Amino acid sequence: MPELPDVELARRRLRSWMGGATITAARSTDRRILRPHSPATLGAALRGRTVRGVSRRGKWLRIELDDGRRLFSHLGMTGDWVRRAPEAPAHASERVRIDVVRAGGRRSSVRYVDTRRFGRLIVAREDIPEWRELGPDPLADGIDTRSLAESLGRSRRAVKAALMDQTVLAGVGNILATEALWRARIDPRSRSDALSRGDVGKIVQGLSAEIRKELAARRPAGDDARDESFFAYGRAGQACPRCEASLVRVVTGGRTTTFCPRCQLRRTSSPG
Ligand SMILES: [Zn+2]
Repeated sequence: MPELPDVELARRRLRSWMGGATITAARSTDRRILRPHSPATLGAALRGRTVRGVSRRGKWLRIELDDGRRLFSHLGMTGDWVRRAPEAPAHASERVRIDVVRAGGRRSSVRYVDTRRFGRLIVAREDIPEWRELGPDPLADGIDTRSLAESLGRSRRAVKAALMDQTVLAGVGNILATEALWRARIDPRSRSDALSRGDVGKIVQGLSAEIRKELAARRPAGDDARDESFFAYGRAGQACPRCEASLVRVVTGGRTTTFCPRCQLRRTSSPG
């Protein structure tokens, strides 16, 4: 599932393809991704508009139009934006196409592809609640250790589940949370309110390092768990890269997570 680094890379691509360009046509037949709007609404709202900018918060993209309207895009499980020649035929997983023309006259066709169709595309005159309710974005806003410690300190949930709560931090998913907790040497089942300020500082460092690494690696969206470049994610049964104990998989907060039972310690009691 696309997380912050994947969506940030999609934002950079969309900005380079569409920034300053004028939309000549927008078409879709997919009512599920466009819910509650219809394909006709999408075409009418976008046609003739110029793209002012493309921004991101967490896993949401916001394409800003010159009339103040915005197109919000969430990639769901398997969504991604690609660019094709205007005459290129639609792929089977293609759900939406937005044709643009740049100031120099160059035409291209930006397509939204999504095999499993859990993605969303919403045209709105104002920011949608899903966008406004997001917590700080680690890349766009930075992470303030003190406010994250306060926010985690109010929760009795497992730290892994709390980190993936989009109102706590925007954009953190299973991969980022798993890798950051491995880097911080903290058991993902530890209670959020049992973490020390030092623990939270290590989680912040772990998240920042993992985001930087993934942005540099340019991992394509929707890539699977078999990526060899992870320390813990998707590597249950394999040796911990730090202490060589066997990594184990557990279910916490309804999600599977992988961690090292030897060097990731469980915090249980409140620090004070
Ligand atoms: Zn280990």
